Amino acid sequence: MMRQALEVLSEKFGYTSFRTGQEQVIQHVMDGQDALCVMPTGGGKSLCYQVPAMLLEGTVLVISPLISLMKDQVDALWQLGIPAAYINSTLSTEEYFGTLENAIAGHYRLLYIAPERLESESFLRELKRMTVPMIAIDEAHCISQWGHDFRPSYRNISRVLNCFDDKPVLLALTATATPNVREDIRIQLGIPQEQTVMTGFERANLVFTVIKGENREKFIKEYVEKNKGEAGIIYAATRKAVESISDLLRRSGYEVAKYHGGMSDIERGQEQERFLNDEATVMVATNAFGMGIDKSNIRYVIHYQMPKNMESYYQEAGRAGRDGLDSDCVLLFASQDIQTQRFLIDQSLDTSRIPAELEKLQGMIDYCHTENCLQQYIVTYFGEKDAPKCGRCANCTDTREQMDVTLEAQKVLSCVIRMGQRFGKTMIAQVLTGSRNKKLLDFKFNELTTYGLLKEKNAKEVSDFIEFLISANCLQVENGQFPTIRVAERGREVLLGNDKILRKGSFVSKQL
Ligand code: ADP
Repeated sequence: MMRQALEVLSEKFGYTSFRTGQEQVIQHVMDGQDALCVMPTGGGKSLCYQVPAMLLEGTVLVISPLISLMKDQVDALWQLGIPAAYINSTLSTEEYFGTLENAIAGHYRLLYIAPERLESESFLRELKRMTVPMIAIDEAHCISQWGHDFRPSYRNISRVLNCFDDKPVLLALTATATPNVREDIRIQLGIPQEQTVMTGFERANLVFTVIKGENREKFIKEYVEKNKGEAGIIYAATRKAVESISDLLRRSGYEVAKYHGGMSDIERGQEQERFLNDEATVMVATNAFGMGIDKSNIRYVIHYQMPKNMESYYQEAGRAGRDGLDSDCVLLFASQDIQTQRFLIDQSLDTSRIPAELEKLQGMIDYCHTENCLQQYIVTYFGEKDAPKCGRCANCTDTREQMDVTLEAQKVLSCVIRMGQRFGKTMIAQVLTGSRNKKLLDFKFNELTTYGLLKEKNAKEVSDFIEFLISANCLQVENGQFPTIRVAERGREVLLGNDKILRKGSFVSKQL
């Protein structure tokens, strides 16, 4: 069977060998076993169902939320001589029925459908008339409430299975799955643990960097100038920021495209085309841009602001370097980003999800403050154990000597304890720097022995140091009505003198 798969790979797709994980996934589905395939963006998930589609009798159903991408995928398949079609809201009634008829007649190897279709009883009735050996669920994290892009219509997938007398094989595919999301997908779809195929999340050609305390506009201008002619994406958190950065770059004479939710479909389509065709080298966008974009020569992805969680970050940054060539992923961090993201979380979600979202936000903040390997941090976050250091990221290549900051850490930790472990970062920093803030005086914190212990530093530096101690597991954030800070396990060891804290470039870390 695998020999046949290899034949299809070379004859139909023109590739000589499978990439890591592809073979295992194909083996499972060809053996009739459901499978969960977790691979990074660009890892080659599509082939995991496209190759079996060439070997199985009938039409493989592909459920995908990426409507804008279906047409491209289907066109690409036709170019390879593989008959395929899609059904989504962009089709006219005539096209819809025509496609359906052809599908029932067995004219397609693959049929892509948007998840919303599964809510239509009439569509499900038609589906019963097709031979469907396998259902591929793309972007499978959409099925999980814990995922970053929950789509309720994905919950109907189990209903679809009941349409068929012979149960089709299920293949769930995703690029971003933290351990609990992965569990959730598996349980909801009934896929056994041992039928999960997860390939390394490391992207060996990406160089990660976090930059703090830099003038961001200046950085962007200099970076784009230095990388003139290279394709890159700059992600910003708001439409307003997209407008101002794209204006800034346009005024400086660069070919820029922009993309955000406030633009019309037509405008967005045109801007996307300009970027994909290399007419514009830089794309400035909100996170609305990029789902399923297959542009392989993106040399850098810069985040102008910190995104809301690591899932989003890695997915967006991972759009760089799909061709395997060295590429940069730079995140520009400023502490006000934390407030922005907290605000957005508070605004946009049903309250039951807020605690989980805040926990994910903390994972993102910790990424911005860790001094360990950034790539290692990412793959560990996604559940890989014993990941090695990458040796490429800005932290791995930061040659500054580590300084012992245990004493300063102890000052902060004991201050947190004396304040009753129920205040936020700002207040703690004010106490340590000896501020005369009224609220602080009302609480009589000026009478604490830790008051003013770090008065030679400014509040911003102390605040940054607190973030560093959180990322080093000495402190932890409790998300109540306001975030408060407590001493964590390692912090207790540091206070007892059983553990040391080292930081590059001493108390005030890098200000690159
Ligand atoms: P994903 O869906 O995991 O993000 P894709 O399926 O879009 O990734 O694949 C990314 C790129 O890798 C595509 O351009 C695809 O043609 C290429 N690719 C996939 N598998 C192989 C392979 N075995 N050999 C060479 N190229 C491959």
